[in-house]
Amino acid sequence: MSKVYNFSAGPSVFPEEVLKQAQQELLDWQGTGMSVMEMSHRGKHFSVIAQELESDLRSLMNVPENYRVLFLQGGASAQFSFIPQNILNGKTKACYVNTGAWSEKAIKDAQSYCEVLVIASSEDTKYTSIPDSSTWLIDEEAAYLHYTSNETIHGVEFQDCPNAKGLTLVSDMSSNILSRKIDIEQYGLIYAGTQKNMGPAGVTVVIVRDDLIGHASKSVPSVFDYAEQAKNQSMLNTPATYNWYLVGLILKWLKGQGGVEAIEVRNVAKANKLYQAIDQSALYSNPVAIPFRSRMNVPFILADESLDKSFLASAEANGLFELKGHRSVGGMRASIYNAMPEAGVLTLIDFMAEFERTH
Ligand SMILES: *Cc1c(COP(=O)(O)O)cnc(C)c1O
Repeated sequence: MSKVYNFSAGPSVFPEEVLKQAQQELLDWQGTGMSVMEMSHRGKHFSVIAQELESDLRSLMNVPENYRVLFLQGGASAQFSFIPQNILNGKTKACYVNTGAWSEKAIKDAQSYCEVLVIASSEDTKYTSIPDSSTWLIDEEAAYLHYTSNETIHGVEFQDCPNAKGLTLVSDMSSNILSRKIDIEQYGLIYAGTQKNMGPAGVTVVIVRDDLIGHASKSVPSVFDYAEQAKNQSMLNTPATYNWYLVGLILKWLKGQGGVEAIEVRNVAKANKLYQAIDQSALYSNPVAIPFRSRMNVPFILADESLDKSFLASAEANGLFELKGHRSVGGMRASIYNAMPEAGVLTLIDFMAEFERTH
C-alpha cells in the first residue's frame, strides 16, 4: 500500500524515520543480538534506554531538578483517579475547569475522592470557548486546580498557562504535550498519555513537583503511588519496556527537529493554513472561537451533512485517513500532531478545495 496521511486523534501518526529505525533495530538493538522487547528491564542495556528517555524528556521540556518524571501505565484516564488520591494530602476539595469531554471525565472520576468545585465551564457555549481565568471562582482551601490544556474532541486549547492564584496547578496535556513551549514551574503536576504526541499507547507521563509526593492516601496501589514510583525510577513493577523505547525514539527525533521551540513554529504554520482554508470556504466551518482554537485537533463540519459520507470516502481514495469527527460531536476532525508533516496538511487543504469545487 502506498503511504497515506493519517489524521487520527490517537493512537496517531508516527514520524516515518522513527518507524524505520524501530524496524531496523527490531531484531538486534545496537549489536546486542536482542530485541528491546526481550530485555530485562533491570539489565544494563535497558537501563541506558530508560536513562536517556528521562534525560531527553527533561531537556526537551526544561524540567527543573525539583520535579520527578514518572512513566506509568493505565493511561491518562487512570490519573483522573490517582491524582486526587496522591495529592489531596488531607484536603477535601479540588477546583476543576470544564472545557470539554476530557475535563468532564476528569471531573467525574475525581468526585469519588473529594468535593469537586467546577469553578468555570464553557458547557453553555457547547465547548467552543474557554472562560477567562480572571472570572474563575477559585477556592483557596482546595488542594489544586485541574484543567485540560487541549480538548482533543472539541478542538479547544489554552494558549497560555491560566492564573491559578496560588493554587497548585494540575494539567492534562495528553494531546498537546511537546507541541508548544511551557514553563513547568507554573505547574504542580502535568500528565499525558503518550499516544497522541509522543509515541504509542501504553505509557503515561507524570511530571510532578517533589513537595506534592509522599502524601498518597492508603487506598492507592503502590504502582500508582507517585512517591513509590519515584523512588524506583518508575520500575516498581515491570514497565512497558518496548513502549518506553519507542517514546525514547520519538524524543530523539524531536530533538533532531530542533526541539519544542522549532516544532511549535511548524505547528503554528500548519494549523494557521488549515483554519484559513476552512474559514475561507463556504462548505466547511469550525465552531470554535478563534482565540481558543486547537493547533493539534481541528474539527470542522460540512454545511450539508449529507455530504459527510462521500467526503470521507473520497478523502480515503486520496490517501487521507481518519478524518471522521468524534462520535459525540460529529462532522470531521483533522489531528495534526507534531509528526504530521506539513505536506499532509497541504494535501488535505487541496483535497478539501477540490471536493468543495465539485460539490
Ligand atoms: C486521549 C486523552 C485522554 C485519555 O487517554 P487514555 O490514555 O486513553 O486514558 C485523556 N485526556 C486527553 C486530553 C486525551 O486526549
